[in-house]
Amino acid sequence: MTNTDTADAAASAAQVRLLAEAGSEIVRITVNTREAAAAVPEIRRRLADLGVAAPLVGDFHYNGHLLLTEHPDCAAALDKYRINPGNVGVGERHDENFRRMIEVAVAHGKPVRIGVNWGSLDRALLTRLMDENAHRDAPLEDREVVLEAMRESALRSAELAERFGQPHDRIVLSAKVSEVRDLVAVYRALAAACDYPLHLGLTEAGLGTKGIVATTAALAILLHEGIGDTIRTSLTPAPGGDRTEEVRVCQQVLQSLGVRHFAPQVSSCPGCGRTTSSFFQELAFEVTAHIQRRLAHWRGRYPGVEELRVAVMGCVVNGPGESKHADIGISLPGTGEAPRAPVYVEGRLETTLQGETIAEDFARLLDEYVESRYGTPTAG
Ligand code: SF4
Repeated sequence: MTNTDTADAAASAAQVRLLAEAGSEIVRITVNTREAAAAVPEIRRRLADLGVAAPLVGDFHYNGHLLLTEHPDCAAALDKYRINPGNVGVGERHDENFRRMIEVAVAHGKPVRIGVNWGSLDRALLTRLMDENAHRDAPLEDREVVLEAMRESALRSAELAERFGQPHDRIVLSAKVSEVRDLVAVYRALAAACDYPLHLGLTEAGLGTKGIVATTAALAILLHEGIGDTIRTSLTPAPGGDRTEEVRVCQQVLQSLGVRHFAPQVSSCPGCGRTTSSFFQELAFEVTAHIQRRLAHWRGRYPGVEELRVAVMGCVVNGPGESKHADIGISLPGTGEAPRAPVYVEGRLETTLQGETIAEDFARLLDEYVESRYGTPTAG
């Protein structure tokens, strides 16, 4: 999701492009004001000029019914509308505002994501469920009632959307919370209750390592169970930080689980008392950097290279074994070992490197392996 002012079409288009080039396959933009809604068609035009075709999702809260009806060009330019049922008004206005947004989606043939968030949960629904819970013989914990309210909000809104004419297969649901175990619980409940596609994300995941680990923990459980169709990582970027980090984290989660492949993976050991020099770490970094430098070229020329597995290991203890499991791997000499580095290709000893040029030699062997395995054989 972008964090630019959507009314600034140039900045927003530039950030969508960055996210798309980093690998984002759907990009969400805030549509919160008339100026933002008016800028959406211009963002779409700029992206078309840049050759960026990533679908754009408009994120609406409070005034989406007004913006979508007053700005039909915006409604047409977006590929999906995210509607938060907790933020479309209360009472009769809730249903009326929701109906207006759905009617725009129907008129333009657009899918909607009904995105419930516990920070903006439908208060009337929550209050009613809390009251009902209080009269139970064995009341649930408040936390469980909140999760029940989220599931109910999503499912009831989907039912309402279908009643207002939205086709069943153009509805996506999400129910984001910021605690891992709650996220797992609410999505398991949603998956058991419906067949709508589910968008996963741990909301307000936080900064840095905490945000990445918490998100990964939550998504991994659900994805491993086959729950989830699209994902997002809601990281708080450091000031001036790189917005595309959330894309790379999503890719790494999917690749680590074996769901999708985006880039060759380098396995390297942590090092220990057997690796007395920093050469092993430097080589692991250099091999990773070499792959990143080559990747755009490789992707265009070598289909399937995303599945390549490389190993860079520190000593004889696990080095040969791990290297044999990789497509290509190198086992560096640890303390007390002869200064030679065997290289394994598809489980067999290919050659042994030594001397001052091990890094360059291994990079060359890597390039040759990629060409031989993923290159198109020439006719003749
Ligand atoms: S492979 Fe060798 S250097 Fe690496 S962690 Fe294991 S014992 Fe230590």
